[in-house]
Amino acid sequence: MTFEVMPISALTDNYIWALVNHRNKQAVVVDPGEAQPVFKFLVDHGLFLSAILITHHHWDHTNGLDKLLEAYPVPVYGPENEKIPQITEPLHDGDVVNLKRVGAKFSVLEIPGHTLGHIAYYGEDIVFVGDTLFIAGCGRIFEGTVGQMYASLKKLANLPGETLVYCGHEYTLTNLRFARSLEPESTPLLKRFQAVEELRRYNKPSVPGTMAEELETNPFLRVDDPKFKKIVETKHGLPIETPEEVLAIIRTWKNLF
Ligand code: ZN
Ligand code: FE
Repeated sequence: MTFEVMPISALTDNYIWALVNHRNKQAVVVDPGEAQPVFKFLVDHGLFLSAILITHHHWDHTNGLDKLLEAYPVPVYGPENEKIPQITEPLHDGDVVNLKRVGAKFSVLEIPGHTLGHIAYYGEDIVFVGDTLFIAGCGRIFEGTVGQMYASLKKLANLPGETLVYCGHEYTLTNLRFARSLEPESTPLLKRFQAVEELRRYNKPSVPGTMAEELETNPFLRVDDPKFKKIVETKHGLPIETPEEVLAIIRTWKNLF
């Protein structure tokens, strides 16, 4: 791999991810919700910006675009199906993004649910998932249907287990607290909670995690598991038919958690 993925903290709990090629000093940033921390990062590391990737239209992922583009008129890749006027390279499912200067190639996955046009960038054993999947959690369903979110999460869950998941927010501790409220006996959950607590104590990011870890500890990726369904059914007090229903119920619980 010619690049390193580095976090830039922004706003309250957002991560702007930077792909950095240390040899030629080129960088690509993902979801710049703010310009200032990106400028500081580029200056601190002596880097040039060569492109910007966007996963979805929310302001906390796009607000830095105008200021960044004033200083660096670079290509902006993003979903074709969302109204983001700064996008110069509109993308949809199956498109390939070849970022030659950082030495990275990604394919585009459409993952609607959080927003209708939301996309992910997958390649080089990593995936940028924006606000669709979080470490041990998932995004709120603002624009899509539960069925769409279910299909999108499934698409991500089917990526190889070693894939590193880079999401847009540091929500992991709360997500794990919620997950543990459903499965207090789970050893993998307890272990992950302790590991993340330790990281957060030193203000270190809990992101990325591997997809394999997600499959084990993320309740929103476990709605197909009969054992997990049983747990939700018992708590819900009524029979549940489909995995989509399990997802709808735990998404509602999480909103109230
Ligand atoms: Zn969002
Ligand atoms: Fe967000």
